[in-house]
Amino acid sequence: MTNDAWGRVRETLATRIGKNNYTSWIEPLRLVGLTDGVVRFDVPTTFFGDWVSRNFSDHILALLNAEGHRAGRVEFTVPVRAPVEVPKPQRAAAKPARARNDEELPGATLDARFTFDSFVVGKPNELAHAAARRVAEGGPVTFNPLFLYGGVGLGKTHLMHAIAHELQARQPHLRVLYLSAEQFMYRFVQALRDKQIMDFKEIFRSVDVLMVDDVQFIAGKDSTQEEFFHTFNALVDQNKQIVISADRAPGEIKDLEDRIKSRLQCGLVVDLHPTDYELRLGILQQKAEYYRQQYKGLEISGGVLEFLAHRITTNVRVLEGALTRLFAFASLVGREITLELAQDCLADILRASDRKLTIEEIQRKVAEHYNIRLSDMIGPKRLRNIARPRQVAMYFAKQLTSRSLPEIGRRFGGRDHTTIMHGVRKIEELMTTDSQLSDDLQLLRRQLQA
Ligand code: ADP
Ligand code: MG
Repeated sequence: MTNDAWGRVRETLATRIGKNNYTSWIEPLRLVGLTDGVVRFDVPTTFFGDWVSRNFSDHILALLNAEGHRAGRVEFTVPVRAPVEVPKPQRAAAKPARARNDEELPGATLDARFTFDSFVVGKPNELAHAAARRVAEGGPVTFNPLFLYGGVGLGKTHLMHAIAHELQARQPHLRVLYLSAEQFMYRFVQALRDKQIMDFKEIFRSVDVLMVDDVQFIAGKDSTQEEFFHTFNALVDQNKQIVISADRAPGEIKDLEDRIKSRLQCGLVVDLHPTDYELRLGILQQKAEYYRQQYKGLEISGGVLEFLAHRITTNVRVLEGALTRLFAFASLVGREITLELAQDCLADILRASDRKLTIEEIQRKVAEHYNIRLSDMIGPKRLRNIARPRQVAMYFAKQLTSRSLPEIGRRFGGRDHTTIMHGVRKIEELMTTDSQLSDDLQLLRRQLQA
């Protein structure tokens, strides 16, 4: 694709998404190229890329395709820079000049759409939601920190923003600081560089509520961890509320100092479980309602949402992306959203969601987890430290795939189906008494189903 073609697409985009959005988000994109259906852009920051991806990639794709370019996906890269060029967070070239739907906190930009109102509650996120609500009341601190964890796209960031919105509405005098662990690190590094570490400490120690998203990011980053630890303690000592999120439980974050792990476990640790069908359908219905208003007159046939909730089980972000694309596409071609249209337009997403977990993948993941060789999974060794992981892998092969016991046996070096059955039973038995094993199983299951 030429820059000219991209220029034409940009012009159309400008009229579609409005001047402000265009200047803030589209102009800074640097086209790298289009190959194999993937169009690539350089962007100033990861945040920037995420935002454009979330809000405009479907527009971009639709227009490119309308221009005759076959593009199915947009990718954003942040060109590698020397660390001294880390952008000042305050300047945050990534942020729009106060786009309508953003409001500024001393920390990062809040997404105006991430409110409690727009958060659909179901069994898998019930507890997380209740805990977040509790914090958002802003009453006396009952648990500190609130630690939310779960796989990608399950609503952690959404809940944190919702807490911030709610607190700001109820108690505008409170200083609420929300930022990602990555931003925390950038600010820290920058403060070190500019010899303003006292200011940095001052800012972080004077907030009433501190929320740090994706804390797993600071694992292995020693001085950032150290600073985070001190900030954390200072705030807890002053009885200020802290909310943390991560993609896994505190104890499961590798290369995180033990004292931090144990601090993080001191409050309330809540798990956001993978979505179930009802929750996915609820989210889709809510989104569809919103889009029906946005794209006036666009109809969606019965059964389409149910179909999507049934087929796209990965994460909510993918689910939302699918719906966004569906509406954008349907409005572009001026057709009603039917099952056929959905199947057509979302073929790639549906195919990706169809991906079945294989026994080999299970063996690989389990071997990795227990630090044994893949060949030992299949081999004859009977040592406990190899036999147990092998049984764990058998257990998951039975639980998470539709393979029969003899088939599983074949994949475990030609073992008899009774051996597999024995292995599965053994694990089922042990998991009720052995809490370490049950933790392992939980973690592995999450990773395998991610
Ligand atoms: P995480 O931070 O856990 O990776 P996000 O909070 O960014 O996930 O959520 C991903 C997307 O899915 C967001 O657009 C969010 O609004 C949406 N989402 C996730 N869970 C829900 C929910 N229960 N109700 C409504 N939207 C949700
Ligand atoms: Mg998040």
